[in-house]
Amino acid sequence: MIYREYGETGEKISAVGFGGMRFEKPHDYDVSAEMMVHALKRGINYFDTATFYFKGKSEEIFGHARAELEKTGKDFYYSTKSMAKDAEGVRIDLEHSLKRMKVDYIDFFNVWCVLTPEDYSSRKAAGVIDEFRKIKEEGLAKHISISTHLSGREIRELLKTEYFEGITLGYSAINFPFREEGVAAAVEKNMGLVIMNPLGGGSIVNNPDEFSFIKMHEDQTMVDAAVHFLLSNKGITSALVGFGRKEHIDAAVSAIDSFKPYTAQEVADLKLRIEDDFQSMCTTCGYCNVCPEDIPVWAFMESYNHVMLDDSYKAADRLKWHWAVKLNELDKCTACRQCEEACTQHLPILERFEILKRRG
Ligand code: SF4
Ligand code: SF4
Repeated sequence: MIYREYGETGEKISAVGFGGMRFEKPHDYDVSAEMMVHALKRGINYFDTATFYFKGKSEEIFGHARAELEKTGKDFYYSTKSMAKDAEGVRIDLEHSLKRMKVDYIDFFNVWCVLTPEDYSSRKAAGVIDEFRKIKEEGLAKHISISTHLSGREIRELLKTEYFEGITLGYSAINFPFREEGVAAAVEKNMGLVIMNPLGGGSIVNNPDEFSFIKMHEDQTMVDAAVHFLLSNKGITSALVGFGRKEHIDAAVSAIDSFKPYTAQEVADLKLRIEDDFQSMCTTCGYCNVCPEDIPVWAFMESYNHVMLDDSYKAADRLKWHWAVKLNELDKCTACRQCEEACTQHLPILERFEILKRRG
């Protein structure tokens, strides 16, 4: 296993982290806890969950696993998150998390799921950020981080004035151009940088032909390639993978074992290949941000990617939970086609709008 420094905290965490949102049997605490022990024995020491994963069950599994993890004699970290909109809500979430996870303090406590700059400002005005800092001063959280779906540019703006020890964000071959600037801003600030959804919610692994461009070596699996691509950026501390079964853990550990960083030339080639191989997909570059009706076209096209790659995705859910956008914003579209003219991929955006409306 490779371990990397989490920003300036002095903590070293595994380059693959355990995401507690995909347990296959969340009702079976013994089986789920055993998976966590297996992960720790394989070198994974960073375990991430959130208040709402499986309606609190994920944190309870962490609580159930804790004593067994301690028996291994290995160090490990628990990370959890609160998306409460005011200070009182943060405190309530914290108390629930401590109780469910059976810990006296949380190693990494994240301001969770910041969707827009306005969302951040409103939480800050309601005392959320101050409450997180207070919780750290009280010793109930060792480190404070932020987890966000903001664009790269918005993240850079936010970090100009706001300080966090780390940041957790979704970044993969699917949304690479959309977040790249935010990743760079976090690296420049020497923050801990934990990547959610490194496999694009499974889309990358399930669509090897579409994503073949991320493979640089014949013997790489898709999991290997997705992880190697991310970890080639030395500023990325850890890639969080949601594990359902022990085999998923072994595949991720094997990706670390076979890790050979991509060279700067390979990364540059990969970026070019995104343009070529990703012809029918939105690369989330954001150049369509020209809509006179303020429709966030890129959010709809990014959601279209996911809906097309995975039948289980609902466009409306993707839009709501990742982008704080409602599907019916499309009703404002006047069909002026300015977005299509601006699109670097020349995508049939209006046609895709219709498909999204039908898919719901
Ligand atoms: S076609 Fe619709 S979404 Fe595109 S720029 Fe015009 S109004 Fe906006
Ligand atoms: S310009 Fe085209 S490829 Fe870029 S984000 Fe907009 S829809 Fe996607």
